[in-house]
Amino acid sequence: METQLFRIVNIAGRAAIELDGGYHDLGRLTSDESLSDPMAWMTRTAELHGLAEQCVGRAADGQIAAVRLDAPIPTPRQVFAIGLNYADHAAESGMDLPPAPLTFTKFPSCIVGPNADVPLTGDLVDWEVEVVVVIGARCKDVAASQAWDVVAGLTLGQDVSDRGVQFTGSPPQFSLGKSFSAFGPIGPALVSVDSFADRDDIAISCAVNGEQMQSSSTAHLIFDISTLVAYLSSICELFPGDLIFTGTPDGVGIGRGRFLVEGDLLESEAEGIGSLRNRFVAGTGVMAL
Ligand code: ZN
Repeated sequence: METQLFRIVNIAGRAAIELDGGYHDLGRLTSDESLSDPMAWMTRTAELHGLAEQCVGRAADGQIAAVRLDAPIPTPRQVFAIGLNYADHAAESGMDLPPAPLTFTKFPSCIVGPNADVPLTGDLVDWEVEVVVVIGARCKDVAASQAWDVVAGLTLGQDVSDRGVQFTGSPPQFSLGKSFSAFGPIGPALVSVDSFADRDDIAISCAVNGEQMQSSSTAHLIFDISTLVAYLSSICELFPGDLIFTGTPDGVGIGRGRFLVEGDLLESEAEGIGSLRNRFVAGTGVMAL
């Protein structure tokens, strides 16, 4: 029998399976409340294929279009992000290709849902569309050949970046410049790995006010997802729900001399995952020193 693919969404703090525009609350579906914890289900992906199958023909608990989606992984323990992982983006940034994954963190407090407003922090706020890996098992020293076994699924993210803070001083402040509140929209769903015809070739793009800014594919990653999981797990223990922002292709604002302003709508898309819609609103910046 063919395995039912699954998409997991977070509705008001409860995990649900998305199917054909409807959602099925995991706690109601299984009578196992622990599964509705949006930070708990990802260790049980083996069951989720079967549960998604149970949703076929079942009356949905509600329609996705009628609810506000939260981040599918709302409180990750660790959030890794990879810089300069596409050659064309490294070139537009005027930087050499890194010899190993250039890794920083987006502190987990920046993670928000797929349609969250993002407060501006200054005049140099920029977009970076990225595929985001969600870890599904506690692991260490995972071989690249086994790496997909510890991946719960993939989602889409924006690595929103304040270039002013990011490039304050030397060495620069990647982690802080990318961790302001709401600088990490993810979603709209966590998608099972087997949803993709080629899990290493996922088209991603983003547009500002309808004008396309970035368009590429994870096929162009310098360090692919298997390599990232293996490399990071050779250093850090990984935990269920950990996120890896895999890097952004060319077309960011700093390469165009254009940054986000109040009222801008940033729309991001990934093949097989869906889209993020984030409006940029007035906010406050970093304290003056
Ligand atoms: Zn990035």
